Amino acid sequence: MVAARLPRSSRCVILPGMSPARKKSEAAASDQGGGLDRYHAKRDFTKTPEPAGAAAVEPVSPDRVYVIQKHHAGHLHYDLRLESGGVLKSWAVPKGPSLDPADRRLAVEVEDHPLDYADFEGAIPAGEYGAGRVIVWDRGTFRPQGDASFETMLEKGSVKIEIAGEKLAGGFALVRTRFGGKKDNWLLIKEKDTHARPGSAVTDEAPRSVLSGKDVDDISLQPVAQ
Ligand code: MN
Repeated sequence: MVAARLPRSSRCVILPGMSPARKKSEAAASDQGGGLDRYHAKRDFTKTPEPAGAAAVEPVSPDRVYVIQKHHAGHLHYDLRLESGGVLKSWAVPKGPSLDPADRRLAVEVEDHPLDYADFEGAIPAGEYGAGRVIVWDRGTFRPQGDASFETMLEKGSVKIEIAGEKLAGGFALVRTRFGGKKDNWLLIKEKDTHARPGSAVTDEAPRSVLSGKDVDDISLQPVAQ
């Protein structure tokens, strides 16, 4: 069985040398840098079951939230989300992730999502932003690799992380490209390590939710009675 939520304590580790005052100002700064404004502006929370959420003020733990949601909207795609600054940095990956280091998967950066979104599985009603079905395809934690902070690597467009999920594991690179002149385009690439599986297609081999065991089209489009 998979725990539906990570223990609260995993988000609340006080890092040495981090005063409460510093934490608060950092959270405020990340809000001003965009935070969840775009996420909230796109959605009507009286109509969608998605969490309204808020940027967390807790400092991140060394093990950060990692989730990939499979989203059958207009087109089927996979949404990679990685915790940073109290929110989930997000990329839409049209073909989904791969464990084959030869695959370079386009990952289009989209708006930050609240941490609560990592547990969201359900149907977004017709007419709403992202209308369609969502499952939690993979879930776990990640750690940034190397000396630079995760936030610095994001800014530079060259990210290395170690994922500990149920389906994905080991090193991954996220590299910003200038493909088509767009700065939102990144490539998601599996590192060559013991978790690499050349020639494999993990999205075909393991299509279902790690929370419910459902595939994305098993999610009912009928609103769930509260
Ligand atoms: Mn999506």
